Amino acid sequence: MKKHNFSAGPCILPQEVFQEASEAILDFNNSGLSIMEISHRSAGFVSVMEEARELALELLGLNNKGYKALFLQGGASMQFLMTAYNLLNKKAAYLNTGTWSSKAIKEAELFGEIIEVASSKDQNFNYIPKTFSIPDDADYFHCTSNNTIFGTQMKSFPNTSKSMVCDMSSDIFSRSLDFSKFDLIYAGAQKNMGPAGTTLVVVKEDILGKVDRKIPSMMDYAVHISKDSMFNTPAVYAVYVSLLTLRWIKKNGGIAAMEKRNDEKAELLYAEIDRNPLFKGFAAREDRSPMNATFNITNDSLKDRFDDAWKAAGVNGLNGHRSVGGYRASMYNALPLESVQVVVDVMKELENKA
Ligand SMILES: *Cc1c(COP(=O)(O)O)cnc(C)c1O
Repeated sequence: MKKHNFSAGPCILPQEVFQEASEAILDFNNSGLSIMEISHRSAGFVSVMEEARELALELLGLNNKGYKALFLQGGASMQFLMTAYNLLNKKAAYLNTGTWSSKAIKEAELFGEIIEVASSKDQNFNYIPKTFSIPDDADYFHCTSNNTIFGTQMKSFPNTSKSMVCDMSSDIFSRSLDFSKFDLIYAGAQKNMGPAGTTLVVVKEDILGKVDRKIPSMMDYAVHISKDSMFNTPAVYAVYVSLLTLRWIKKNGGIAAMEKRNDEKAELLYAEIDRNPLFKGFAAREDRSPMNATFNITNDSLKDRFDDAWKAAGVNGLNGHRSVGGYRASMYNALPLESVQVVVDVMKELENKA
């Protein structure tokens, strides 16, 4: 039986994407060859890469606006250093909203002075700091739009004349934003876009070429752009499956339609977390993430019973991250509303039987 998959990442993708992806392993586009055995320079794969890059920009509303999309390797974690390598001359401003922001800061510190403009570490990152100022002499401002581990999401972004760099790994393509506010967006594929192994980078070309240091080719966005994201062998299969997901998003109404479904799912679950006395939300209400809902059980003696019940209902991946504990329901684009209803029903049943 197919599970209700709330895994935080790698995570659920649309069932029809899995179907198509599996077919291409045996026979890619009736070519008599597997997607895994063809050259990345073949016409078949070059068109996959080109369509994926185009579609990513189109869905974000960023085509013909000076942006380039790249599918790189090394995960979002590689972007922690690659962004700094390419953009940081002397000083950069970072908003620290969780584990991933902290890791981005640690890497960037190898390249220059990092000003942490605000941090919510004092409250175990259960909220998003809202008042901070970005120093005038910062080369860029970096933030994390959605904090996968703590279940918080930035609902607004500062208006700044500085370049804005954002780690959108866990909420890319999930909600409408004015993406043109950002100069560089990166996202590991495995949270909402595809399998692990590739990372989408969307970069405004005119912010590049301004640092003094020499940049190794593999770390240099300009090199990857000049080679159409094929400087070296890309993660062929991960890019292909990401393309299938991007097509699925477009076919199903684009980001606006995703957002509507995601909001419905989030409202259903958060309403139950707030109503049911056996549960308590972790993140500050106004900062709650529709992608990752974090919550605790208020009566520890019921924990085993709850765990048995959701597992018996076919639910997977509801355990919280070790740094927060409790539970985390990740409700990415492909997760159906019915799966959320299953969890809500288990929560209600626990209350009725307690
Ligand atoms: C998962 C995650 C990362 C790390 O991604 P990798 O691809 O494993 O390097 C970074 N940032 C955020 C917001 C994430 O959710």
